[in-house]
Amino acid sequence: MALLPDIDQARSKLGNLAKPVSRAVQKGFGHRTITHSWVILLVPSLLFGNSPAAMAALWGILSHLISDMLVGRIQLFWPLRFGWIGIPLSKRMYSAIDQIVFYAALGYIVYTGYQ
Ligand SMILES: [Zn+2]
Repeated sequence: MALLPDIDQARSKLGNLAKPVSRAVQKGFGHRTITHSWVILLVPSLLFGNSPAAMAALWGILSHLISDMLVGRIQLFWPLRFGWIGIPLSKRMYSAIDQIVFYAALGYIVYTGYQ
């Protein structure tokens, strides 16, 4: 589910699997618009209701949106034109933050695993 927002790009992994849908979304809305907005956050509960699967899917999609906001801008408040938000970081800064988050998460998993 974390890949779902990038269905708006025909060259993405999911876009390759669902090319007609991907091309239609890309042509109709553009990249990082409706599929990177509050609208996509409704999909997990529509598909899975109020279940652990819905929560897992929601966190996957949220992590995608946050990651995209760190390397560019997304239209989180689509269809509002002023709804573009993000903190574009350099690739070097993004890699550093990615490493920090990875090791923090790994440390958390190891720490909670021993309790
Ligand atoms: Zn994306």
